[in-house]
Amino acid sequence: MAIKVNTDKCIGCGMCASLCPQVFKINSAGKSEVISSDDKECARSAAQACPVMAISVD
Ligand code: SF4
Repeated sequence: MAIKVNTDKCIGCGMCASLCPQVFKINSAGKSEVISSDDKECARSAAQACPVMAISVD
């Protein structure tokens, strides 16, 4: 079970981090980074909200 961000696709819009700040943060490279895999429910919502479908939740 894992939450992943495809950083090649991520455009750093911040949507995932604002929906699930407990799971994602925008790092210094301006890309989303997974900081915790505990809340997969929220991560799934963020995956659906991501405009470039860069988030995957196994
Ligand atoms: S919602 Fe998608 S494009 Fe936006 S920061 Fe998160 S992973 Fe990147």
